[in-house]
Amino acid sequence: MTSPSFQRFESFQSDFSYETRPVRVVFRPGAAVTATPGEAARLGLRRLLVVCGTRGEAVARAVADALGDTCAGVHAEARMHVPVEDADRAVAAVRAAGADGCVAVGGGSAIGLGKAIALRTGLPLIAVPSTYSGSEMTPVWGLTDHGAKRTGRDPVVQPRSVVYDPRLTLSLPVPLTVTSGVNALAHAVEALYAPDTSPLVSVMAEEGVRAMTEALPRLAADPKDLDARSRALYAAWLCGSCLGSTTMGLHHKVCHVLGGTFGLPHAETHTVVLPHALAYNAPAPPQALAVLRRALGADDAPRALWELAGRLGVPRSLAELGLRESDVAPAADRVAGEPYANPREVTAEGVRSLLRAAYEGGPPATA
Ligand code: NAD
Repeated sequence: MTSPSFQRFESFQSDFSYETRPVRVVFRPGAAVTATPGEAARLGLRRLLVVCGTRGEAVARAVADALGDTCAGVHAEARMHVPVEDADRAVAAVRAAGADGCVAVGGGSAIGLGKAIALRTGLPLIAVPSTYSGSEMTPVWGLTDHGAKRTGRDPVVQPRSVVYDPRLTLSLPVPLTVTSGVNALAHAVEALYAPDTSPLVSVMAEEGVRAMTEALPRLAADPKDLDARSRALYAAWLCGSCLGSTTMGLHHKVCHVLGGTFGLPHAETHTVVLPHALAYNAPAPPQALAVLRRALGADDAPRALWELAGRLGVPRSLAELGLRESDVAPAADRVAGEPYANPREVTAEGVRSLLRAAYEGGPPATA
């Protein structure tokens, strides 16, 4: 594999392609209410359905109020992993409202439902994220049908406009702040060794990892620190952009299986699995590891991620998240049966030992 970075100590990757998609980003405290109507106007939208989850309804209603006459209703039915029946109901709501676009307010679940609507109808989407999932910066959609999560890429689901308002994230509880932040880190980590990585992705990933890992301890100490919130959201933007520009690998596949088939919570699962997935892949992409060592300020990147989760008090084992020991082998078979692109060969035995280590929650194998 060629070098993913042109930075110090590494050779320049001189064979790559990079696509820039037309996404407008507005970043400002208070922007959810002050900037969303202007973004809708820029896109020429006049009847917007606001999509959110039940817990995010109050904020979504504030955005809906700001939209005034251009709001065609609030659909507060987003749930994790976008069950297909939820997508069906949301599309029916859009049609019943005669909407010409959607605004998704909330975490990856709300944005995921907005993307499902865009996928089926072609309507433009504005995203107002309230977590660090990064979904707003990707053309990736996900749908769960009969216990199996499918993902795909389609430019039509990429939000046309993203309104980043750090104030929306002030209410994120510390555990979700940390796990959602590590979800963002996972995007940067896998982008560094993706087959379609590039020097620009490498720069974004390094800056994203550095900014997020600096912000999270500050937020664990003081979740109302608006400056740290802004830095974490900036990092989420960078890490989400990395995910949007590259192909996901083993880590994301493991998390999709554990979430879609075994019902584990998304951000927490990313947090537990990431050190072990990176340890599994560590021998394969030395250049990616060099970038991560620099960004994390640590020689052993998988261990540094594992220690970060421990220091910040979030779960480190799949057992804590509710996975049964008897699920490890079938989950591994499922991952190995349809692997994503990965720098190291994915074998059922290899995934089984990765999952067993993540199930137990001890330190990852030394890189
Ligand atoms: P989420 O959207 O389900 O939110 C988690 C919980 O936090 C929910 O109960 C929600 O109501 C609550 N919440 C959200 N924002 C809050 C806030 N500011 N204050 C208090 N509570 C808040 O979880 P998530 O981790 O953001 O997203 C997970 C989903 O996103 C998964 O389905 C995942 O597959 C998807 N995702 C997709 C992509 C992509 O590119 N397509 C990328 C990342 C995640």
